[in-house]
Amino acid sequence: MVLNTTADLVAGLKRAGLKLTPQRLAIAECLAGDGTHPTAQELHQRLTERFPSMSMATVYNTLSALTRTAGCRELDLGGATRFDPNVTPHDHAVCERCGAIRDVELSPGYDATAGEQCPLPGFRVERIERVYRGLCAQCAKAA
Ligand SMILES: [Zn+2]
Ligand SMILES: [Zn+2]
Repeated sequence: MVLNTTADLVAGLKRAGLKLTPQRLAIAECLAGDGTHPTAQELHQRLTERFPSMSMATVYNTLSALTRTAGCRELDLGGATRFDPNVTPHDHAVCERCGAIRDVELSPGYDATAGEQCPLPGFRVERIERVYRGLCAQCAKAA
């Protein structure tokens, strides 16, 4: 499981043609290596202490540039879009009690596209993403 680093994200911002401002750098630093799949709102909240003038638009623009340049990917699990610095194919496990979202590594050699069929006639499968829903180990123990 490899999470993109700040350097990966900064390279993405440069490829997107964005100037590396202190605010954009802070957003990249905040998301890099973060396996919690934060929303734009959560990243904004974490950063407004250091940058009281940071707007949501700056967060959205930066995240959108990072998504375009594969610095991160968008994750839609229902609710607000989340951002994932892990751009290698993987699944997710969502705890329905505490809301934790963990990465689930695909078993070695598993190809998320090969040989899979969709029951919908004519539908061409390009990618399959699984979401496991239930209780994380901690919540399961407490339950
Ligand atoms: Zn939990
Ligand atoms: Zn993930």
